[in-house]
Amino acid sequence: MESIASRLKAVTDQINSAILASGRAPGSVDLLAVSKTFGPDAVLEAVRVGHRTFGENYVQEALDKITALQALAPDVVLSWHFIGPLQSNKTKPVAEHFDWVHTVDREKIARRLSEQRPAGMSPVNICLQINVSGEESKSGIVPDEALSLAQVVSTLPGLRLRGLMAIPAPTEEVAEQHAAFARLRQLRDNIVAAGIPLDTLSMGMSSDLVPAITEGATIVRVGSAIFGQRHYV
Ligand SMILES: *Cc1c(COP(=O)(O)O)cnc(C)c1O
Repeated sequence: MESIASRLKAVTDQINSAILASGRAPGSVDLLAVSKTFGPDAVLEAVRVGHRTFGENYVQEALDKITALQALAPDVVLSWHFIGPLQSNKTKPVAEHFDWVHTVDREKIARRLSEQRPAGMSPVNICLQINVSGEESKSGIVPDEALSLAQVVSTLPGLRLRGLMAIPAPTEEVAEQHAAFARLRQLRDNIVAAGIPLDTLSMGMSSDLVPAITEGATIVRVGSAIFGQRHYV
């Protein structure tokens, strides 16, 4: 069986060759290891080979894991990114324990995260989740509403607006993958042109990280290619 360490290295190699092939600067894409559904030991295995940034989708599972890792690796500082759907009654623990939230899609969530960020911690880094595929059931705001939400978020003291995130509708068509990622990049460019600085495009997962990098991803969120197949969603 392949180890987490070897799969992590394989994904890192894949990222680096996609960066090279697209003529982008070395180091311009960060790898977020998505550890949802895997236990603290799996995270520890990645930590032991130097990985530091992890993504989680479920609040209680994440809090348990963050606590476990503080005991297992007390001297290591990890960066935790919340990438799951966020309900307003769950914002407080997220504001208290995460460095990033990728899934802000309404003003109410943003205001609560800002108010609940403890004094003395640096602002939470925020991505707005955009529904780039126009799917009715998917979370994320429609692209037309992104600028006004960006304007609000950029004024909130507990938050630092960094960029946009998307989970495009799954497709095997590489051209469609490129098109969805390009729409997110174009939206980012429009918001920057309107005077709001953004440095982050959170896009690309295990199956489509190469097209995402070609289209400008700065964070790819990779789970199964590192940790293996998940046993529940
Ligand atoms: C689960 C998840 C991922 C990782 O998906 P893989 O296909 O396992 O790489 C990335 N982003 C989000 C928002 C997720 O929920």
